[in-house]
Amino acid sequence: MVPMSEIFGSMAFNDAVMKKRLPAATYNELKKCIAEDRSLSREVADVVAGAMKDWAIEKGVTHYTHWFQPMTGVTAEKHDSFISPTSDGRVIMEFSGKELIKGEPDASSFPSGGLRATFEARGYTAWDPTSYAFIKDGILCIPTAFCSYTGEALDKKTPLLKSIEAINKQALRILRLFGKNDVKKVIPTAGPEQEYFLIDGKICGMRKDIMYTGRTLFGARPPKGQELEDHYFGAIKPRVAAYMKDLDEELWKLGISAKTKHNEVAPSQHELAPIYTPTSIANDHNQLTMEVMKKVAVRHGLTCLLHEKPFEGVNGSGKHNNWSLSTDTGINLLEPGNSPYDNAQFLLFLSAVIKAVDDYQDLLRLTAASAGNDHRLGANEAPPAIVSIYLGEELDGILSAIEEDRTYSRRAKCNVEIGVHVMPQLPKDSTDRNRTSPFAFTGNKFEFRMLGSAFSIADSNTVINTAVADTLKIFADELENSDENFNDAITRIIRKTIKAHKRIIFNGNNYSAEWLEEAGKRGLLNYKSTADVLPCYTFEKNMALFARHGVFTEAELRSRQEILTENYCKVMNIEALTMSDMMKKEILPAVSEYIKELCEEIAAKRAVDNFISSEEETALVAKLSGLYSSGSKKLKLLETALFETHGFGEGAKAAESYRDRVIPAMKELRAVADEMELNTAAKFWPFPTYGELLFSVK
Ligand code: ADP
Ligand code: MG
Repeated sequence: MVPMSEIFGSMAFNDAVMKKRLPAATYNELKKCIAEDRSLSREVADVVAGAMKDWAIEKGVTHYTHWFQPMTGVTAEKHDSFISPTSDGRVIMEFSGKELIKGEPDASSFPSGGLRATFEARGYTAWDPTSYAFIKDGILCIPTAFCSYTGEALDKKTPLLKSIEAINKQALRILRLFGKNDVKKVIPTAGPEQEYFLIDGKICGMRKDIMYTGRTLFGARPPKGQELEDHYFGAIKPRVAAYMKDLDEELWKLGISAKTKHNEVAPSQHELAPIYTPTSIANDHNQLTMEVMKKVAVRHGLTCLLHEKPFEGVNGSGKHNNWSLSTDTGINLLEPGNSPYDNAQFLLFLSAVIKAVDDYQDLLRLTAASAGNDHRLGANEAPPAIVSIYLGEELDGILSAIEEDRTYSRRAKCNVEIGVHVMPQLPKDSTDRNRTSPFAFTGNKFEFRMLGSAFSIADSNTVINTAVADTLKIFADELENSDENFNDAITRIIRKTIKAHKRIIFNGNNYSAEWLEEAGKRGLLNYKSTADVLPCYTFEKNMALFARHGVFTEAELRSRQEILTENYCKVMNIEALTMSDMMKKEILPAVSEYIKELCEEIAAKRAVDNFISSEEETALVAKLSGLYSSGSKKLKLLETALFETHGFGEGAKAAESYRDRVIPAMKELRAVADEMELNTAAKFWPFPTYGELLFSVK
C-alpha cells in the first residue's frame, strides 16, 4: 500500500512542491505577489513555468491547459502540448512564463451574454496563482480567470476573486480599529458538503430522461422509498465503498482533502465533505470533485447523478456552503472569543453578516436559482425559498439582551455589556443545530444550505463576500469617523443592526406552514422559482453594491442575467422535448401493446366459452384505454405549450411561459404516465422503474 503521505497532493503543484523546486528568491517573490495581489514579472513567471513543466514532465505529462470556469457553471479546458520544434527538425519541450500567465482559448462559443461580439470573440485566460496547478488525466491544468479583451469577466472565478479582495480590504479596516495590526490578510473560507446519487450505470443508460436531463421525468413511486430511514448513515454497501475509496484517492492526489463520507437520507444518496480551505481553492476543488465523482463512477459501472432532483418523492441533493472568515494569523473571526474584547469583535462581525443577509436576501436566493433547484427549494426537504438566519437560542438571547440593553441570563447569569464581560460559552455541538434553516450559524461558521448539488459555489460566495464587505465598510466608515468611546460606538452599532435586521433571524422550523405566514408578516422575500428571482440581478441596489466594491459592472450583471435566463429556458426545453419523445415513442406504444395482449386474452377466453369471465381484463382495458387517450391529450397540450413558448425566444418572457405553461403541462402528463406505469405489466414497461433505479447498487 502506498502511504497517504505519498498520495496526498502528488498531482498538485502546491506550496510544498514550489518551495522545494523553485529558487528561494523566486519562491519568496511569488508568495509576496500572491499576498499583495500583484502580478508576476516575466522573469519570475519564466522560472515558475520552467519548474512546473519539469515537474509535470517527470510525471509523464506532455500537454498543458488553462483550466477555466465559464458561465455555464462547468469547467473548460483546451489542451496545448509542450512540444516546440527546433531549427534542426527536432522537438524540445517548452513552456514559458508567457504561456503560464496568459492563454487565448478562442472560446467564442462560451456564453458571454452579449459582452463579446463574435468578430472579436477572443477572450483570454490569466493564471490565478492563488489556486495550485494540478495534473488531471495526464494534463497539466493551470487554474485561470477568463476575461474578454475589454476586461469584462467571462467566468465565475474572476468576480469571486474580486469579492475576496473586497472583503479582505473592509475586514482589515475593522481589525485595525481593534488594534489587530499583526493581521495582514483576511481570507474567506469555504467547505462545501456535496450530495450525490450513485445508480447502476447500465440501468441509467436505459432511460432517455437521465441521459438527456440528468433526472427522471417519469416514474411511479416504488413500494419502498426512504420512509424507513434505513439508508441515512447506514452501513455502506461494498460496491459503494469501493467507489468511495477510489474517489477519495483520486481527490487526495489532487490535494483535495475529502474527509467525511456517509449515506444520506434517500436510498442510493451519499455525501462527501472536504476540509475547508480559502474560498478560491474550495471553489476550484469543488468543481474538480464533481468532475472526478462522475469519472470514477464510470470506472465502477456506476452513474453519479449530481442533479438536484433526480427522483420525485425522494429527497433531492443539495450543497451546503460552509463559510467563515479567517485571518492569515490563523484566527476564525466568527469564533466567539475568550476575552470581552474579542467578543465585541466577534459580535460586530456577526452583526455584519446578519445585516448583509437581510439586505441582500434576493441576491442570495438568486445564487441558488436553477431549473433543477426549483424542485427542491420550498419543498419539504430543502430549506424554503425564503432566506433567514438561524443563530440558536443562546446567541439569539445574547443579541436580544444587547438590543434591549439588559442582562442576559440563561445558563450562567452574566451581563453582556459588550467589551466588558465575557460571553457565556456557546454550545458548539451539532445536536443543537437546526437543519431546516437556509443560513445557519453552526458555532464558528455559517452554513448556507440553499445551493443545489450541481452548482458552482462561486456565485454564492461572491455574493456573501461582497454583501458582508459592504456592511463592514459601513461599520468601518462610521467607527473611523466617530469620536465616541470605542466600546460605546460598537455597542451602538450592534444594537442598531439587531434592531433593524432582527426580522431575518428565525430559530424555529423553516419547513412549517407557520413560518411561511410569519415570514410574510416580517416582509421577507419569497421568490418561489428561478423565473421569479431572475430580475434581481439588475435591481438598482444590487448593481450599486457590486459597483461599490468593483466586483461586477452593470454590463457584466446584465450579461449574467441573460445567460441564466437563457440557460433556464434551454434546460426546460430539453426536459419538455425529452418528455414528449419518451411518451410518444416508448410509453404510449408500451401501453398499447399491453392493451393488445389483454384484448387477445379476452378474445381467446370468449372463443373457448362465452361464459368464462373476462370482467377484470375488460375493466383493465377500459382503464388503460382511458389513460391512453388522456395521456395523448396531455401530450398534445404540452406540445402546444412548448410551441407557444418558443415564440418568446429565450428571454424573461419565455422563462415565465415555461414556469406558467410548460411546467404545469409536464406535471399533468407525468401524472397520467405514472398511473399507466402502475397499471401496466412489468414486461411491457419500456424502461427501468424507480425501484430498479434506487435499489440498483448492492
Ligand atoms: P454537518 O454535516 O454537520 O454540517 P460536516 O462535518 O459534514 O458537518 O461539514 C462541515 C463542513 O464545514 C466541512 O466541510 C468543514 O470543513 C466545513 N468548515 C468547518 N469550519 C469551517 C470554517 N471555519 N470555514 C468554512 N468551512 C468550515
Ligand atoms: Mg451540513
